[in-house]
Amino acid sequence: MTAKKINLTVVGSIALDTITTTKASRREVLGGSTTYACAAAALFTRPGMVGVVGEDFPVKHKQKLQRRGIDLAGLQQVPGRTFRWSGVYAADMNNRSTLSTELNVFADFSPQLPDAYQKSRVLFLANIHPDLQLEVLRQVRQPALVAADTMDLWINTAKRNLRRLIGKVHMLLINDSEARALTGCGSLLDAARKINTWGPRYVLIKKGEHGCMLVTKSQLALLPAFPVQKVVDPTGAGDSFAGGMLGYLSTANKIDEATVREAMLYGTVAASFSVESFSLEKLAVLPRSELLRRLRQFRGMLPG
Ligand code: AMP
Repeated sequence: MTAKKINLTVVGSIALDTITTTKASRREVLGGSTTYACAAAALFTRPGMVGVVGEDFPVKHKQKLQRRGIDLAGLQQVPGRTFRWSGVYAADMNNRSTLSTELNVFADFSPQLPDAYQKSRVLFLANIHPDLQLEVLRQVRQPALVAADTMDLWINTAKRNLRRLIGKVHMLLINDSEARALTGCGSLLDAARKINTWGPRYVLIKKGEHGCMLVTKSQLALLPAFPVQKVVDPTGAGDSFAGGMLGYLSTANKIDEATVREAMLYGTVAASFSVESFSLEKLAVLPRSELLRRLRQFRGMLPG
């Protein structure tokens, strides 16, 4: 059942991921950009998930998402196979290669936003084909904040529409190598400033274990990652970061540079839990009290 008010709507992939690290591997576990983002955002609000799965999508995954407090009225289940992605990590747990991407049911997906989602305060266009992100953007009524994420696949195969999308959002989240590939700039600061001129007021560059950087026309903010002792699976770190950040912002009194800076702390801490297990094993059951405890610990580590 759809809750009356949805503060945050998230569209993106819902996936069965096959992941290999140097220590272990997992086959067809629950993943996807919207899945990680919603699981993190659910620590703050009841996010509305928009996406599609095939008839092979296990019921237990749906139940897990529901138990986390994610609204599934925007999730379609159709004949066909669920989106699949597989990747392998280098020993540093930072660099990864995609082995395969199977769009499957996402190839013909036509998103339909439930009424309550159309009035969301915050919209997150998580990583998926830019045409789908644009379609969802067309269906919402003037959210206070529209944020988008993307990846190298779309930079290489759908750059024109990705650029159209970027021109319409307030915030772009992108990792360091993708920012360079998108803009052709070697310097991350140049890349971020160039993206600022295309439209987004907030450009958030994710740098994996090195944290993140916020660039606006007037400000620059840097935050390290929370030092995790044992990284088990970095998949979804970027999406959990975004989900934590935007979940927090969707319930904040104001959305401005100061609150975005504060939100970066929440995103960073959410991401740190995500990488401590495969799939959503940890994030999907994390109590808010544990997040807040680590947040206090994190603040204590920052100078000043
Ligand atoms: P991250 O590690 O934050 O980049 O997110 C990884 C998640 O993104 C995985 O769970 C994948 O299922 C999903 N993913 C990988 N490639 C794509 C793609 N091309 N489009 C949408 N989602 C993807």
